[in-house]
Amino acid sequence: MWWWADVSELQIVGLHAAVHGRQILTGIDLVVRSGEVHAVMGPNGSGKSTLSHVIMGKPGYEVTGGQVLIDGVDILGLPAWKRAQAGLFLAMQYPIEVPGVSVESMLRESFLAAGNDPDLVPELVAAEAARIGFAEDVVHRPLNVDLSGGEKKRNETLQLGVLRPTFAVLDELDSGLDIDALRACARRVEAATKEGDPPLGVLAITHYSRLLSELQPDVVHVLARGKIQATGGPELAIELEATGYTAYGDEPADAAGDRELDPFADPFA
Ligand code: ADP
Ligand code: MG
Repeated sequence: MWWWADVSELQIVGLHAAVHGRQILTGIDLVVRSGEVHAVMGPNGSGKSTLSHVIMGKPGYEVTGGQVLIDGVDILGLPAWKRAQAGLFLAMQYPIEVPGVSVESMLRESFLAAGNDPDLVPELVAAEAARIGFAEDVVHRPLNVDLSGGEKKRNETLQLGVLRPTFAVLDELDSGLDIDALRACARRVEAATKEGDPPLGVLAITHYSRLLSELQPDVVHVLARGKIQATGGPELAIELEATGYTAYGDEPADAAGDRELDPFADPFA
């Protein structure tokens, strides 16, 4: 048996995490292997983005228990850039604007840091932009500055295509994308799960099933109140679309989840 060499494993074991002393994740267990797509669905404020930030190592999120391992090696002690070098990629729910730095120069630096030839970047960028119907001139503009929500998501997808990570966490890749762009981005990610050595493993966070009609999940998890409450096949996503999350103890629609991120939210609500 030698085929195992082509398979990597992202393992989340008993993960607990807190923000500002408040426990948000209270024991997450899941395993994603190369080529697999796992969807994590859940109501607002259930801890989906917290999970993505903890996996990638965003400062401010305190791990209070458990492990995140890539091929058996715990990555929780590593800074985000080392996790990226270990093969992790995060497509952020709210991609950050970086004035003065273009996507292309950011990707060149990533290639350099990983010991790859940065001169390959322009050609790869052009090919990836064409694949997802993205205007190529965007890559020369400052990273995410003045891009529409959908353009930011395509920008994330383009970076994924160029960087070819081993595992990608997609945090609401579908938000802000119109239907054609959604299809193009989802198909691009789906293709990455079938090509490459090893093929991409995906943790796709979403609260709608529309992403999953193009990016077909092998496994669907329901995250609510900081824990995986149910795990099933693709049919679970369809069921959730019909029933919502009330069965899993959904908080009301104005749950704290996106409040802090909404600049127009009432701070005293
Ligand atoms: P989801 O992505 O599922 O909507 P989040 O992970 O963004 O949920 O949020 C889960 C909970 O953690 C919410 O109550 C949210 O307010 C809180 N939270 C997340 N990040 C922060 C932060 N940086 N500061 C304060 N609270 C946070
Ligand atoms: Mg979120």
